[in-house]
Amino acid sequence: MLCPPLRVGQPPTRRRFLASSAAAVCALGPWPVDDAPQFGVDGRRLRDIWAALRRFGGTSDGGTTRLAYSDEDLAAREYVAEVMERAGLAVSVDLAGNLVGRREGAGGGGGGSDGRPLVTGSHIDTVPGGGSYDGQVGVAGALEAALSLRGHGVELLRPLEVVVFQNEEGGKTGSRALAGRVQPAELDIVTASGFTIREGTGRLGGNPARLAEARREPGSVHGFLELHVEQGGRLEAAGTQIGVVEGIVGIRRWDVEVQGAANHAGTTPMDQRRDALVAAASLIQAVDETALSTEGRQVATVGKIEAVPGAPNVVPGLVRATLEIRDLSMEKIDSVFRAVERRARAVEEAHDVSISFSRFYESLAAPTAPRFRDIVEQAAETLGHSHARMPSGAGHDAQSMAQIGPAGMIFVPSRDGISHSPMEYTSPEDMERGANVLLHSILALDREPGDADW
Ligand SMILES: [Zn+2]
Repeated sequence: MLCPPLRVGQPPTRRRFLASSAAAVCALGPWPVDDAPQFGVDGRRLRDIWAALRRFGGTSDGGTTRLAYSDEDLAAREYVAEVMERAGLAVSVDLAGNLVGRREGAGGGGGGSDGRPLVTGSHIDTVPGGGSYDGQVGVAGALEAALSLRGHGVELLRPLEVVVFQNEEGGKTGSRALAGRVQPAELDIVTASGFTIREGTGRLGGNPARLAEARREPGSVHGFLELHVEQGGRLEAAGTQIGVVEGIVGIRRWDVEVQGAANHAGTTPMDQRRDALVAAASLIQAVDETALSTEGRQVATVGKIEAVPGAPNVVPGLVRATLEIRDLSMEKIDSVFRAVERRARAVEEAHDVSISFSRFYESLAAPTAPRFRDIVEQAAETLGHSHARMPSGAGHDAQSMAQIGPAGMIFVPSRDGISHSPMEYTSPEDMERGANVLLHSILALDREPGDADW
């Protein structure tokens, strides 16, 4: 184990205090996380890394447009690779075009000897007109955690990998490739940058023809931990600093058809109408009421609606709409849907219409590993940060990584719950807290037994 020198008898600056306490603990062996809340990341360096990323696609309104495969994406990854090297990570690009920085572990006795890596990371690509925090906080935090470990002379038992997943916003291509879930036909999809996924993967240094080989076997990693901004307003509203993510919600979507009868809007009396749009209005209200009145944190949305024929002087005969329900439990999604169906039967009666649902999309819920929740929670507790357990309503790379090994996520607050917008904002203090929880969680995970449950 490489330990920094212990210096005593010098004035106690913060930097020296951290260095000497790191050296003391380093000399004693693996880091006792519970006793060492003062050991932490360098908040200013973290902020500098985050700010440096904004050089690539940052816009004057505070946002960032860094589309996957764009020149900005390529340049930002080059910068990240430089920081990885500074952190003592060996840099490579895998066949799927993910940027990987890896440092071998000290191995030896105990949990680290099985050689399976601890993986952390996120993405740096954005949506068009996106923010500067989504994904980027997780990458900057992971880099800073790696720099801190090196700076404090702490050597992990297990290998550490920091990964920048490619094309998260356009379909989580990089992380899904690791899980072996990218279909060959997807490679022809044209992304927001104008490049197909095939062309883009090549631009990043991957090999689209051999993408399938990028797959990692389930059980081949010790675990995956992602720091991310919440992208919702729960933490801020509750004044909570750290979100311990219970999982990424599952999604089911249905096409909804409300069939009534089209008729002349001038000559059809009100009591003789079979107005599909009026019925649809009742149905939408019923969806909202059902989701609100059911215990839990499920959400249900009618996000799209079309009246046919769609003319000012015709009673609508048909409405096409969508229904989406999300929850951490697929059973809960089912039960909410069944309740909506029951309400739909009543709407049919009341408006003399028929309503049909046909499911067209499903994304399974990805719960985080219970022991990862405990470790993240314990790290937040040790550091004195307030914390709460919560689901993630948005998809993340952790969702794919959960198919390879146990996964966890750390959320930090998003101001006003705004995301995918230049208005997206997370304070430097919150970023630092999140990076510290990540660092302490990595230390705790490093010392787990090798056969810890998935
Ligand atoms: Zn993201």
